[in-house]
Amino acid sequence: MSTFNVAKFGGTSVADFAAMSRCATIIESNPHTKLVVSSACSGVTNLLVTLASGIENPQERATLIGKIAAIHQAIVEQLNDPSSVEDPLLHFIDVITSASEAASYQTSQKLTDHLVACGELMSTHLFTQILRERGIDAIRFDIRHMLRTDDNFGKAEPQLEEIRRLADEHLVPICQQQVVVTQGFIGADNQGNTTTLGRGGSDYSAALIAESVGAAGLEIWTDVPGIYSTDPRIAPNAAPIAEISFNEASEMANFGAKILHPSTLLPALRQGIPVFVGSSKAPEKGGTWIRKQVDSAPQFRALALRDNQTMVTLHSEKMFQSYGFLAKVFEILAKHKLSVDLITTSEISVSLTLDKTDTSGGAPELPPAVHEELQSLCSVKVEHHLSLIALIGNHMDNQGYAKKVFGALDDFNVRMICYGASEHNLCFLVDSSSAKQAIQHLHEQLFE
Ligand code: ADP
Ligand code: ASP
Ligand code: MG
Repeated sequence: MSTFNVAKFGGTSVADFAAMSRCATIIESNPHTKLVVSSACSGVTNLLVTLASGIENPQERATLIGKIAAIHQAIVEQLNDPSSVEDPLLHFIDVITSASEAASYQTSQKLTDHLVACGELMSTHLFTQILRERGIDAIRFDIRHMLRTDDNFGKAEPQLEEIRRLADEHLVPICQQQVVVTQGFIGADNQGNTTTLGRGGSDYSAALIAESVGAAGLEIWTDVPGIYSTDPRIAPNAAPIAEISFNEASEMANFGAKILHPSTLLPALRQGIPVFVGSSKAPEKGGTWIRKQVDSAPQFRALALRDNQTMVTLHSEKMFQSYGFLAKVFEILAKHKLSVDLITTSEISVSLTLDKTDTSGGAPELPPAVHEELQSLCSVKVEHHLSLIALIGNHMDNQGYAKKVFGALDDFNVRMICYGASEHNLCFLVDSSSAKQAIQHLHEQLFE
């Protein structure tokens, strides 16, 4: 294991010149920080995703591209040497212009990735220059030389062995000499096509990079001083957690706590790399340490919320006392690469939710071809406007637990409860319109 630290800065942390300068101070304060992973400037990925969805009106496209250019230009104007970054930024504005015109004729996941990657590719030019102007010997590295993925555009799967080999070849040697600034969220397949890891993927990139160089620590710098008992934007009394286990934090991330991309902790766990989450706006406030072993194991640790759930209920009398039905259902879903999240079954029906965390966003849809195939087996009902609430904690198998939780949920219409599969979580669906209220109420009853 090296003594390197990998520090990742999210979109709000690199939103503008002042924000990037605060990050520079954080980097300066720790001489072990050798690798800096950056998101796109705040708001840029959303604008790029909109362009990638195919905007037909050229004027409308120009307005969106103008907004992207203005966000970066405002930073350029505060540099001592703007000319050092002007050409590469103009190049990416050209790429965005032609790719969004192409998307207005025909959209594709591949084109979306090519387009949205421009956010990180631009922010890292600016971030590197800001570090240089503060006297830090920084170099920008294009992570596509190293972060090899498959070609599942929009939610590409990292190829760990290749990543490690390429890191040894291209990345490790330069980290010994300089502070390397690179892009989160993006990678490349073995043909050199740009891919992305799904929205919020920079956390995951940083963890993969930390794993590949055998980093001593991973820092995730964001806009809140650590992981809270629930999203502080939903429950104002949510409190920061000083220390949390990998298991609990993984459950939180998996079940929608936006603070970490769901896959972030896998590489860190594999290598036993401690992870710190803190605020780049207020580093002095400290943050959360995520470790393999922690001292506390409270019954209730946190609440997570994930919107845009799609529930599919399959119903068939044939399922009664027969075998092979579920296998057939999953065979169809697997064939179409649909990932299932939650599942509950009864004698003659099965309900499941579809997972979706790819770059194009929105609620997952059951593709018509899958719907048709499933219908040849059973009746199919699809429901939207649902949200998933997960309660994360420890020893969830203890008696009396469910009573406490569902007692607090008396006034809410609770759907599809999953309880018992993990000792660390209990989750259920509610109507999206009442989800925030349900979180606030549960937080009040169980945490405050
Ligand atoms: P970044 O751009 O730095 O990756 P994100 O917006 O992706 O930041 O994640 C940070 C946000 O996650 C916070 O502003 C907060 O609203 C949200 N969040 C959701 N759940 C939690 C939680 N349990 N603790 C802290 N923040 C949370
Ligand atoms: N810029 C990407 C997004 O907004 C990745 C990230 O910030 O983690 O989803
Ligand atoms: Mg994020």
